[in-house]
Amino acid sequence: MPELPEVEVVRFGLEQHVVGRVVSSVEVHHPRAIRRHLPGAADFSGRLAGRKVVAVRRRGKYLWAELDEGLALLTHLGMSGQMLVQPVGAPDEKHLRVRFRFADDGAELRFVDQRTFGGLLVDELVTVDGTSVPLAIAHIARDPMDPAFSPREVIAALRRKHTEIKRALLDQNLVSGIGNIYADEALWRARLHWSRPTDRLSAAKAGEVLTAATDVMREALGAGGTSFDALYVNVNGQSGYFDRSLAVYGQEGLPCQRCGTAIRREPFMNRSSFFCPRCQRRG
Ligand SMILES: [Zn+2]
Repeated sequence: MPELPEVEVVRFGLEQHVVGRVVSSVEVHHPRAIRRHLPGAADFSGRLAGRKVVAVRRRGKYLWAELDEGLALLTHLGMSGQMLVQPVGAPDEKHLRVRFRFADDGAELRFVDQRTFGGLLVDELVTVDGTSVPLAIAHIARDPMDPAFSPREVIAALRRKHTEIKRALLDQNLVSGIGNIYADEALWRARLHWSRPTDRLSAAKAGEVLTAATDVMREALGAGGTSFDALYVNVNGQSGYFDRSLAVYGQEGLPCQRCGTAIRREPFMNRSSFFCPRCQRRG
């Protein structure tokens, strides 16, 4: 499943290839890919035709092309979604869901998604807290890579909640873009067990775990940032691109890099939490 760093690579790649171009036509090959666009395929295609791509932006794991006339093409890659730029006439991918053609008749943009958990919709842009965002994600909090992200506000909000720290880190209304993998990695770095109550965390400790989450995502982005162009057509939600050097996630039974104790796994919200039982006490 693509995490924030992978989505950021897709955003960067799209920025290089589609900004300044005008959409001429759109073909929807599978209705499920636009299921969140409630008026349907004809409306989806009709609203995009003639629109110019002004910018490509991201918040958390949501990606959108900012269009002229106050519109946005909002995308979530889901489990396996890919945005591919292909030469006109290149054979269709088996799981091609939506094709975008441009007025310049150069390469086309394709949304390919094997498992169809991802999706697209045309949305209106609204201004929230001084930033233009698609209406459908107006409630999603800024992610830690956002230049306007305020750790102080998030720390305060986190400590007001009566919940477990990992649930808070995954709460997209509090801070976006931290998925299961990076939450576990951040908690290990900050030496916190995932079930620690947020209202009993010191501001310093809450700050530490947020910084750790930011660092671990930045490192992943740095590791994958060498060949953006080739990478971007290869971004694949299933295998992932980044060679994540993970300390705990998926490391059950292996020694903790800090203390040598075997990493443990516990069930967490239909998924898993990985942690070092010695470094990360329940407290
Ligand atoms: Zn340890």
